[in-house]
Amino acid sequence: MERLTHPTTGLIHHPYSAPQGFDAPMPGVFKASTVFFPTVAALRSREWKDKSAYTYGLHGTPTTFVLEERLSTLEGGLQCVLAPSGLAALALVALALLQSGDEVLLPDNAYSAYKPLFDCELKHWGISYQVYNPMDIADMQARISARTRLVWIEAAGSVTLEFPDIRALVRTCKAHGVLVALDNTWGAGLAFNPFDLQPGMEPLGVDISAHALTKYPSGGGDVLMGSVITRDPDLHMKIKLTHMRLGLNVGANDAEAVLRALPSMPLRYQAHDQSARALALWCQSRPEFAQVLHPALPDSPGHAHWKSLCKTGLGAAAGLFSVVISPRYAQNQVDAFCEALRLFRIGYSWGGPISLVVPYNLNSMRQTWPEHIARGTVVRFAIGLEAVEDLRADLEQALNALLQ
Ligand SMILES: *Cc1c(COP(=O)(O)O)cnc(C)c1O
Repeated sequence: MERLTHPTTGLIHHPYSAPQGFDAPMPGVFKASTVFFPTVAALRSREWKDKSAYTYGLHGTPTTFVLEERLSTLEGGLQCVLAPSGLAALALVALALLQSGDEVLLPDNAYSAYKPLFDCELKHWGISYQVYNPMDIADMQARISARTRLVWIEAAGSVTLEFPDIRALVRTCKAHGVLVALDNTWGAGLAFNPFDLQPGMEPLGVDISAHALTKYPSGGGDVLMGSVITRDPDLHMKIKLTHMRLGLNVGANDAEAVLRALPSMPLRYQAHDQSARALALWCQSRPEFAQVLHPALPDSPGHAHWKSLCKTGLGAAAGLFSVVISPRYAQNQVDAFCEALRLFRIGYSWGGPISLVVPYNLNSMRQTWPEHIARGTVVRFAIGLEAVEDLRADLEQALNALLQ
């Protein structure tokens, strides 16, 4: 570049450019709205849909492309789109695939913040939903009609952690030509492969896997992000075009945080799993709890489905479980128990290092009280990375609060 007349311009247009090919453990953090083109012809002709070039920050950077590819590999998919939160990823699937007149089937134990999108927004666009019992294939099948466009599966289900027969649900949907989407946040791409549900046998898999990266991929309780992963290029393009039209984006520093946390995710997932199973077993021995819900417990709803689908050993379940506190304890006693916990903090979400507790009012969340859930107050624990002995001692000391 010519010698500049003023140094301030040199702060913006500088003749030095660093050597290419920098190589280090972490991918670079590229931040951009504007991306430069060498010529006007290049600006006119750049293709942005296939990751062969860069056009604008919204359409991807090296940082987001690398994250998308790694997440696709994790979940056994081929294409990935990033969204600003897990909920945004679920919403994106609905907005990309549904038209006026279409109907969606949601499991009764679906992530609860998803239903308001249908109740309050998509209703006005002529899109409806029905709730099915995830533990009853016949119930799901009976609700499929000519209007059914999409069926959501969640495994294990939110809060009550029932594990459905995913293979049977997918097979039934395929037989009716209906798209199947899985909320794969719990399995995280580690407990089972949603696109290959019976390795070595007939090809069977979901069409779409949506994942709240906010949980285990982030691992820190400090990033919100979601992904939508597919194997079918046409389905992916539909979702990607809607993503582009909605202007959805994730920040480069957030993408960096997830890239930084991904290599340790399988180890963290195993550690969360190990502690959660130990604590769930311990809770089973406590008379205050009418039921303990964790798919690895033999008497938990859907245990056989979990066992036949998920990996054996540790790393086959997320670090979540719920207890049903006996109805002989009043709500204020349950609240006092939650507040008496010292290591467990009161708060939503999970996947980070700190253990969390939330009491739920199941009556307000479900159409009917599930027949396989004991009566009482459901309290969900998300197990962090603290020493399991300390968490057990914390639960033990807080149980005294139930008696007061
Ligand atoms: C947390 C969660 C979501 C939503 O993720 P956010 O990033 O918090 O919006 C969706 N589905 C499941 C199963 C979740 O646990």
